[in-house]
Amino acid sequence: MKKHNFSAGPCILPEEVLQKASEAIINFNDDNLSLLEISHRSKPFVAVIENARSLALELLGLENKGYKALFLQGGASNQFLMTAYNLLNKKAAYLNTGTWSSKAIKEAKLFGELVEVASSEDKNFNYIPKGYEIPTDVDYFHCTSNNTIYGSQMKSFPETNVPLICDMSSDIFSRQLDFSKFDLIYAGAQKNMGPAGTTLVIVKEDVLGKVTREIPSMLNYQTFIDKDSMFNTPPVFAVYTSMLTLEWLKDLGGIEFIEKVNNQKSALLYSEIDRNPLFKGAVVKEDRSHMNATFSLTDNNLKETFNTLWKEANINGLDGHRSVGGYRASMYNALPLYSVQALVDVMQELERKA
Ligand SMILES: *Cc1c(COP(=O)(O)O)cnc(C)c1O
Repeated sequence: MKKHNFSAGPCILPEEVLQKASEAIINFNDDNLSLLEISHRSKPFVAVIENARSLALELLGLENKGYKALFLQGGASNQFLMTAYNLLNKKAAYLNTGTWSSKAIKEAKLFGELVEVASSEDKNFNYIPKGYEIPTDVDYFHCTSNNTIYGSQMKSFPETNVPLICDMSSDIFSRQLDFSKFDLIYAGAQKNMGPAGTTLVIVKEDVLGKVTREIPSMLNYQTFIDKDSMFNTPPVFAVYTSMLTLEWLKDLGGIEFIEKVNNQKSALLYSEIDRNPLFKGAVVKEDRSHMNATFSLTDNNLKETFNTLWKEANINGLDGHRSVGGYRASMYNALPLYSVQALVDVMQELERKA
């Protein structure tokens, strides 16, 4: 039986996507060739990447609004520098909500002056700062919508006249937002969209072309826009599998549908964390992530018993990130509600045993 997979990333993908992806490795498009051994410029693959790009825009409600969807390489981490390379002329504003934001800040400092508008580092990133001011003379404001490691999530985004850039690696396609408020969104595929190896970038074309520096071709968004994400060989398997996940999501009813399921899953787990005296949540309630729930035992002596119980219950990937400790249950789109129920059952079993 397949494990209940709470892995933070790379993470669970829908069964039918894994099935179709594995078939394509042997025989893609009924052409008796593998997806991995045909030209990325062949008609069948060009159709795949075009479909993936248009599905991404469609699901986010961004068709015909001046946005381009790109499938790039280098992970979300490469976007930390690529965003700054392409958009930072003099000064940019950043919100620091955790490890990934801090890394983005570090890279951007190579390109100009940084204003850290607020940080939650004082409390080990267990909340999302609010009420900060974004200077009006910055080239853009950058934030991280969901903090995969600490388990916090931005529930609203600031109103600002400067371009808005967001790292949505771990919650893209998980909830409805007015995505047209953002000028650039990026997300590593391996959290909520596909396998590792590609990063989705959604960029509003009119924010580009404003920096004076020269940008190397491989780091220039315009290069990939002009070549339809095919300036060089794209990661064909990651793009294909991402396309399958986006199709799966569309067939289910899109973000509107999956958001309801995601809310059910997180409500089920958080209510158990709050009810069960043996557990406590790591993040302040109003900022808790629907994707990554972080929690710990109130009595560390129960650690071994709990670890044995969840492993026996066929659960995978519950250990917290090495920088935080405790536990982290990642509940991405493909995780079924019954997996969360399996975890809740184990938490209740621990309570009976303790
Ligand atoms: C995982 C993650 C990253 C890093 O992604 P890579 O593809 O490994 O570079 C960046 N930001 C967030 C929010 C993440 O969850």
